[in-house]
Amino acid sequence: MIIVLRPDATKKETDHVIQKIKQLGLAVHISKGKERTIIGAIGDESVFEEHPLDTLPGVEKVMPILKPYKLVSREFQKEDTIINLGKVKIGGKQIQVIAGPCSVETRETLLHIAREIKKAGARLLRGGAFKPRTSPYAFQGLGEEGLKLLSEVKKATGLPVVTELLDPRDTDIVYRHSDIIQIGARNMQNFRLLTEVGKLDKPVLLKRGLAATIKEFLMSAEYIASEGNRKIILCERGIRTFETSVRNTLDLSAIPVLKEETHLPVFIDPSHAVGRWDMVAPLARAAVACGADGLMIEVHSDPENALCDGSQSLKPSKFAALMKELKKVAIAVGRTM
Ligand code: PEP
Ligand code: MN
Repeated sequence: MIIVLRPDATKKETDHVIQKIKQLGLAVHISKGKERTIIGAIGDESVFEEHPLDTLPGVEKVMPILKPYKLVSREFQKEDTIINLGKVKIGGKQIQVIAGPCSVETRETLLHIAREIKKAGARLLRGGAFKPRTSPYAFQGLGEEGLKLLSEVKKATGLPVVTELLDPRDTDIVYRHSDIIQIGARNMQNFRLLTEVGKLDKPVLLKRGLAATIKEFLMSAEYIASEGNRKIILCERGIRTFETSVRNTLDLSAIPVLKEETHLPVFIDPSHAVGRWDMVAPLARAAVACGADGLMIEVHSDPENALCDGSQSLKPSKFAALMKELKKVAIAVGRTM
């Protein structure tokens, strides 16, 4: 249920409404807009039949949220969520690009790639230390050592770090070494993991599952939000379809659909969608044209010898050229980069 307070509601009136909702056994989520405060009451709404809230002082109107996802829905919050990460704003007019290798390999390569992507205009560095690999015999990532390298490179370049949390047992160390915690496609419906990151005060980049509908995607975001963490970035990364000519099928229509359904920032990962470097650029341009708030792109200085996803990684020079093109597309659609 959404409880819209009057613009002139006093603190006493607001507190009383909050108290009442809690007394009825529902969770309270407050959203303070420029003009008025909106309270989300999440739980069994049937209690309001006997205890209506619309007659309480300070309340303007009470509306049910019709969607199954509540806190992340546009119904609950009209304005776009903007996540502030130091000077980097995610979800605003400026489009952000997260770039870097699939996995952290060595200090030298990571530092080199980080400097290159920064020069090209990316403001966030990615790199996996815990890798979700299809084969148990494939490189699984450097683990804690990889996280420490990410922290070192952050110190040297100033770039905030995005890295994946694969297992709730690693929450503390991943938290310590990251600025944004990534939940990978394979874990989109790992509800225990979602609940875990929902309790943290750090932004979460949630990737869409390989076979997840948009509704399921948003329900997973709701798991995180319902625990209190509303700093969620959604990332479409290609879904499984009958098509086999590329690794996955990039669902570009997810962008306008998500922008309508939710106030959360929407990112596109063209690298994992297409699976080959030579098709990353057209999809990245299309994503920006389509209204994405940001991109996640894999970059490697020596793709041929990369330990993971080399075939879809752009060399730094190609990445820099793409960034120049993306800036033009961004301006054409009223954004900045
Ligand atoms: C990744 O970004 O490194 C990754 C493994 O992506 P996904 O979870 O989308 O496959
Ligand atoms: Mn990868």
